[in-house]
Amino acid sequence: MAMQYPEWIWQNGEIKPWKEATAHVMSHALHYGSSVFEGIRSYVTPEGAAIFRLTDHLKRLYQSAKIYDMALPYSQDQLAAACRDVIGKNGLSAAYLRPVAYRGLGGFGLSAETPIDVAVAAWPMGPYLGPEALEVGITACVSSWQRFAPNTIPAGAKAGGNYLSGQLVAREARRLGFGEGIALAASGLLSEGAGENLFLVFDGVLHTTPASASILTGITRDTLKVLAREDGFEVVERDIPREYLYLADEVLMCGTAAEITPIREIDGKQVGSGKAGRITRRLQQLYFGLFDGKTQDKWGWLEPV
Ligand code: PMP
Repeated sequence: MAMQYPEWIWQNGEIKPWKEATAHVMSHALHYGSSVFEGIRSYVTPEGAAIFRLTDHLKRLYQSAKIYDMALPYSQDQLAAACRDVIGKNGLSAAYLRPVAYRGLGGFGLSAETPIDVAVAAWPMGPYLGPEALEVGITACVSSWQRFAPNTIPAGAKAGGNYLSGQLVAREARRLGFGEGIALAASGLLSEGAGENLFLVFDGVLHTTPASASILTGITRDTLKVLAREDGFEVVERDIPREYLYLADEVLMCGTAAEITPIREIDGKQVGSGKAGRITRRLQQLYFGLFDGKTQDKWGWLEPV
């Protein structure tokens, strides 16, 4: 993804020019994947720019850090203010925010107690899986790479090292000409996309894979569960065998970056009608409605910049 760098970034308590926000080559995280991070979007709303579920994303950041015994030297309120600052100072409105906390320089070895450095970047971002993805949907394949087993690396932490798995899945899919890759869990059952959760629709009921399937329990997944139930749909979390991907009436991927992306074809087989299905469309309408004011935000998910 070509990136347009904004002017300012927040690092260790200060806003500084983008090019000055560097880490030492001997930083622990660079060698061992010891970082935790978030991906958050801000949207333009009728009430001005708002950060979507900022509090929930930051809460997950602290949970990821707890799993790896990383004591963040800033409070959640300080990081929330940093997120607002980088959006404001860069004059951004519809953007992607990336808070990251990482083991820095000053201690080596796997169990070293290094300093924890923290940065927050933000940049403008449109649809992650391509401009047409939200409308016409994408193609996907089941990856030859599985997700890590639950007793190896915790999928529930959003840690840098986990994304070695995501890179294998996504790069293989793109190399083979698919829009995105879907991984199976070590159990052989469905897990999730390289960087997205999955929903399958059968007879009007939404099915999504459970935390036990080595997924990151996404905030968008949670948002869709709430919006769908509120709209009268039944949503179930269950183990899903691979072949159900081919039999579902609709399949969608969701995530902060991917938003709600229909999948029109998997492993060369058409999904449902081969277009964004009725329920996927409805969920897109409800989700994007949060940002244009058509869906009432009863949950306080839109947090003003
Ligand atoms: N799974 C993985 C592996 C991801 O990287 C993401 C994106 N953060 C998701 C699921 C979706 O999570 P969220 O909706 O919180 O962005």
